[in-house]
Amino acid sequence: MKIVGLTGGIGSGKTTIAGFFRDLGVPVYIADDAGKRLLATSEAIREKVVAIFGADAYNGKDPNRSFIAEQVFNDSEKLSKLNAIIHPAVKDDFKAWLQDQDSVYVIYEAAILFETGGNKICDHTVVVTAPKEVRITRILERDNTTREAILARMANQWDQDRKVALADYVIENTDLQLSSQRVKDIHLQILKAGQNC
Ligand code: ATP
Repeated sequence: MKIVGLTGGIGSGKTTIAGFFRDLGVPVYIADDAGKRLLATSEAIREKVVAIFGADAYNGKDPNRSFIAEQVFNDSEKLSKLNAIIHPAVKDDFKAWLQDQDSVYVIYEAAILFETGGNKICDHTVVVTAPKEVRITRILERDNTTREAILARMANQWDQDRKVALADYVIENTDLQLSSQRVKDIHLQILKAGQNC
């Protein structure tokens, strides 16, 4: 089974595009969702997170997301430590999930893929793009957040151009109808590439 990595900067529309692949019957794994789930359910992760961030990182069994976000905001060292706890656990969780799938390929969606070397487990990569200001506007409309917080998150991600240069496929996601069509084209190309193996 092939693994197709799907990535793109904050607000580019990764999850929206992942939904188009899902509509075509492709199994989709969303790494950020898995990370949040594991943070809430894994005892081993909880112990490591508390060791770094202190007991305030959890309210009882529930992760104190706003506290953790505050801690890593503008502190790349703490963010790296958090990622070093979460990413290997997500990788293992993904491998286990993969065993249950039956498909020519699956989509692995992650906000940071090239940044973590996650692309190394992928047979193909897809990068979703949109102009920076469009992405900021989308997130401001979607989330209860600030421009400052969005820019801080962007600073922890590679520039769009750097990802585009490494991608097998690029989806310029501004018009949803065009993006949906582009997903169908890429889907057919991946299936075709699979037949030629
Ligand atoms: P994040 O990095 O924060 O997880 P994302 O890249 O997964 O974001 P989405 O959640 O898919 O992005 O999209 C962000 C917002 O923009 C959502 O509200 C979504 O509905 C909207 N959106 C996505 N694509 C388009 C588009 N082509 N036109 C208009 N709105 C869009």
